[in-house]
Amino acid sequence: MLNQTCYALGANRSCIRELFEYGRARAALVGEENVFDFSLGNPSIPAPAQVDDAIREILVDTDSLKVHGYTSAVGDLSARTAIAQDLNARFDANCAPEDLFLCGGAAPALIAVLRSLAVEGGEALAIAPYFPEYKPFAESSGLRFRAVSPDVPAFQIRLEAVEAALTPNTQAVILNSPNNPSGVVYTAKTLEALAALLTKKASEFGHPIYIISDEPYRELVYGVTVPWLPHIYPDTIVCYSYSKSLSLPGERIGYVYVPQAAADSRELYAAIAGAARACGHVCAPSLWQQVIARCASLRPDLKAYDRNRLTLWQGLTRLGYEVARPDGAFYLFVKAPRGDANAFSEKAKKKDLLLVPGDGFGCPGWFRLCYCVSYDTICRSLPVFGELIR
Ligand code: PLP
Repeated sequence: MLNQTCYALGANRSCIRELFEYGRARAALVGEENVFDFSLGNPSIPAPAQVDDAIREILVDTDSLKVHGYTSAVGDLSARTAIAQDLNARFDANCAPEDLFLCGGAAPALIAVLRSLAVEGGEALAIAPYFPEYKPFAESSGLRFRAVSPDVPAFQIRLEAVEAALTPNTQAVILNSPNNPSGVVYTAKTLEALAALLTKKASEFGHPIYIISDEPYRELVYGVTVPWLPHIYPDTIVCYSYSKSLSLPGERIGYVYVPQAAADSRELYAAIAGAARACGHVCAPSLWQQVIARCASLRPDLKAYDRNRLTLWQGLTRLGYEVARPDGAFYLFVKAPRGDANAFSEKAKKKDLLLVPGDGFGCPGWFRLCYCVSYDTICRSLPVFGELIR
């Protein structure tokens, strides 16, 4: 006998993975350059040179036993100190190393946080469009997952929909800004209004409602700033990852930040550490902790993403597509002509153009394009988009 939920999660590949695998197979047949694969959010700019330099230095300068040994479960003090200093310099965050828990990226960070909040009957809300993994992460942690309908076409947050979804069982609201898949950045006004609502409801329900701020795209913004949520809503738990900001998705390094001002901060931190332990966390990869100790203040060079973003956004808009305002991340979210994103995706697939329908993100009728591809792919895809809208 097998656990059927686990079996279904493992046996059924995600729609994004399906498309990506299909793209690989087509590329082998018709040539890489003839497949316009906008399916997968794999960074297309290399990690900063300082990251590679840091690895070389660490391997030369540091005792091999230390480089490859276990660290403390919460993470090496030097890495946590470097991250705290960076957060304090940028956001005046008042972060101390003991508020940080290093782990293998945003995915395990989210799971540890969700598990730490999983009480009998507990619920987690996510605002559509949302990262599809939130649902299995929440449900496998023992929380009921509830989606809040999207604010089309601005893709900010519909407060009345959040209010309708909140119940005395709501333990957390998961936010992701810059957003995957919309590319939208929530404004300070949006976040302040949400904070006011959650503060009111938490006092009505008699327990905290945490915001879980999933921030792998924090540094990927184009001319806007991402408000620092713990200043707007103290009961915020930050889940951060270097997968996108330093182009390190295969290396698995990130952290959870539990601000001291958050309700039950120290107990919450301990519960997150305990949840990670129960999931088999031993420590974040030691070499990468040491890289972060040296590189926590590095920022990505976004020129290539920005050029792709503007070329695709302007090109699609000129062709008559409706596109959500892409201020961050590396995604465009586009309204499907004639309304059916699945039909549109199938039609596009026939022209070797791969895009992800919004259904899995809780937003049917729209589709996602990852513009972390070559500039040449962007330019050559535009005539194909032109054919598809006719
Ligand atoms: N959250 C969002 C919104 C993402 O888009 C991703 C990855 O694409 C993750 C979390 C997981 O990131 P990580 O590679 O850090 O586990």
